[in-house]
Amino acid sequence: MSPVEDQGAYRAFLARRRAEIEARIAAACERVGRDASEVRVFAVSKTVGPEEVVSAMAAGYTCFAENRPQELVRKLAALEAAGVDVPRFDMIGNLQKNKVNAVLGRATVIQSVSSAHLAEAVSRRAAERGIVARVLLEVNVSGEETKGGFAPAELAQWAEHIADLPGIQPEGLMTMAPAHEPVEDRETFRGLRELRDSLETETGLVLPVLSCGMSDDFEIAVEEGSTLVRLGRVVFDHDYTPAAGDPATKRD
Ligand SMILES: *Cc1c(COP(=O)(O)O)cnc(C)c1O
Repeated sequence: MSPVEDQGAYRAFLARRRAEIEARIAAACERVGRDASEVRVFAVSKTVGPEEVVSAMAAGYTCFAENRPQELVRKLAALEAAGVDVPRFDMIGNLQKNKVNAVLGRATVIQSVSSAHLAEAVSRRAAERGIVARVLLEVNVSGEETKGGFAPAELAQWAEHIADLPGIQPEGLMTMAPAHEPVEDRETFRGLRELRDSLETETGLVLPVLSCGMSDDFEIAVEEGSTLVRLGRVVFDHDYTPAAGDPATKRD
């Protein structure tokens, strides 16, 4: 195939996958009486280049996410250099304080604010620049030691503190599931929603965004109230097959 035909085939694949994903989200919403318009799909583009992002835009994706600051900056620059109308990119991965300046004003939302120190750094830098950084607070719902994020028991105290800081606006919560274990995943997602609900009641903060659900577990996340799913492999990977979930849909 010529490169143009090749690109056409890739776009057709992405569009087909996107339709499948939308249908699965709609079905999950239907099962629990939610409106599918409440769920926003983010294409996690960390394993692909700017060309694939352009293809994904052509296939209908409008929101993207990257887990490394350098890569987010590099990809935005490449898209700009190519004259592309740059879509929304969020930061979803571990962020060091010394990388805050690089992503501020570039990432639409920093979804991975995982500590008060990081929140303070974001606040300080944003205030210096006279901007307000939109953020999500990452919560370690499952309590795994290897995972970053606020401990659920300390979240209320920190959320109020952070909401009072200048230059930073928390819009919701984000979490990562333990992965590959449907029952635990569901508990994690449900835990995130319950935390948000009690946090809103306790503090009066308004935190509408719940960012949870990845390729292997996004339907469970949607059933448990996710408003933002972060999908990488299921969007971009030809060979992707679900690692968990409904065994009936699993291919060997
Ligand atoms: C890579 C990544 C995702 C997407 O993971 P998939 O399993 O490929 O869908 C979501 N969230 C974060 C924070 C990631 O790093």
